[in-house]
Amino acid sequence: MSAAENACRECGECLVRCRYLGFSRKKAVREMRRVNLGLPSEIFERCAGCAACNAFCPHGAGPYDRILAAWNARNARRGIPARAAYLLPFSRPNFRTDLPFSAEERALHEKWGKGDPPAETVLYPGCNLLAMPLLATGAIFNRLPVWGRFDLCCSEMYWRMGLFGEVRAAAARLTNFYAGKGVREMVFMCPAGANMFQNVLPGRFGARFDFKISHFADWFLAALDRGEFHITRPLSESVVIHDSCHARLLGEPFMERQRELLRRLGTAVYETRQNRAQGLCCGMAAGCARFSARDIAAAALKALRALDDSPASRAVTYCGGCLLSLETVRAAAAAGKPLVHTLELVRTALGENPPHPGPEKGRALLVGIARNALPAYLSRRRLHFG
Ligand code: SF4
Ligand code: SF4
Repeated sequence: MSAAENACRECGECLVRCRYLGFSRKKAVREMRRVNLGLPSEIFERCAGCAACNAFCPHGAGPYDRILAAWNARNARRGIPARAAYLLPFSRPNFRTDLPFSAEERALHEKWGKGDPPAETVLYPGCNLLAMPLLATGAIFNRLPVWGRFDLCCSEMYWRMGLFGEVRAAAARLTNFYAGKGVREMVFMCPAGANMFQNVLPGRFGARFDFKISHFADWFLAALDRGEFHITRPLSESVVIHDSCHARLLGEPFMERQRELLRRLGTAVYETRQNRAQGLCCGMAAGCARFSARDIAAAALKALRALDDSPASRAVTYCGGCLLSLETVRAAAAAGKPLVHTLELVRTALGENPPHPGPEKGRALLVGIARNALPAYLSRRRLHFG
C-alpha cells in the first residue's frame, strides 16, 4: 500500500463532492472502502476524470490518482476497446492528426518540427496547439519560438486512460530526445503538457529534463512588465473562464494566473458556479472510464451549459484540448456562447487580428469522429498494451 493509500481515512468527502457521481455520504464511504480493498467499484465505470477529487480530499490521499491506478490494472487485464484508438497519440488516424490542415498550417508544423531548438527558450506546442497552429503566430512567437512535433507527445491521454506502460515509454523517449539539446526553458501554453512535464513524467515515471518548465501566463506577464509587449487595444468585454483538469492538478496559483492575464488585457473575468478546483470536465477525460462517445458528449454539454449560464459575452479557455472538445460537441449539439482561446484575446489586445479556429476545427473533428471513430464501435477487438 502506497503512502497515498495510507492517507485515506475513508471519510467519503471526495466522492460526496464529486459533481458526476451523486453519491450520498454512506455510499461514498462504502465505495471508497471498496477502492482501498482493491474491489470493483461503480466509480471506475462512472468517473468523469475531472481530477477535482484530488483537491476535495482534505488528507492528501489523491483519490483521482487511485482511480487512474485502478484503470491501469483493469486495462492491463482486459485491454481497451478498439474504439479508444482514435484518442491515442500514436494511432493513425487520431483526434488530432485527423484534422484537415491548410498549406500554411502544414508549413508551421514543418518549421516547428525541424532539427535543433531555434532558441534557448521555446514554446512546447503539444498536440492541442499543433491542431490549431495559426494561434501560435504573430509578435509573441517571434520572441518565443515554437519547437515541437506530434511525436513529441506528452502522453497525457495515455496517463488519463491509465495506460501507464505507455507513459513510462514516453518518459524514456522524451528524456532521451531532449537531453543535451540546449533548451534552457520550455514554456507551456497547454496545462496538460505543463503538468505532464513538470509533475507526472518526472515524479512518477522516471523522466529527467534539464530545462526549466514555465507557464505561458507567467512568461507573458513578465514580458509585459518588462515592456516587451504593449496592450494597444484593451478588451472591454466580459469573459467566463473554463479551467482544465490539469490546471486543477497544477493548483490554485496556476488558475489565478490565467485570470490575472485576462484581467491585464482589460477583460472582466466571470466564474461559472462550479469553478476552479471544482470546475467541470470539458468532456475528453470523461471518455476514459468506458471509452464512450456518449459520456464525452454528456460531460461536455454539462460544461457548456455552465458557461452559457454566465452573463459574460464570451467563454474563454487557455487549454486547447478543452477548446477542441467543447467546440466539437457544440458543433453537434447546439448554439451557445462563443468560445475563444486565451491566445486569441492576448493577440487581439496586442493589436493583432488572430484567427478564430475553434468552430472550424470542432466541425472537422466531428466529421473525423463520424468517419473514423464511430465505425470502431461495431468492433469487438480489444487493444492490449504492455
Ligand atoms: S480519498 Fe480523501 S476525501 Fe476521499 S475518502 Fe479518502 S481521505 Fe476521504
Ligand atoms: S475524478 Fe472527478 S468525476 Fe472522477 S471521482 Fe473524482 S471528482 Fe468525481
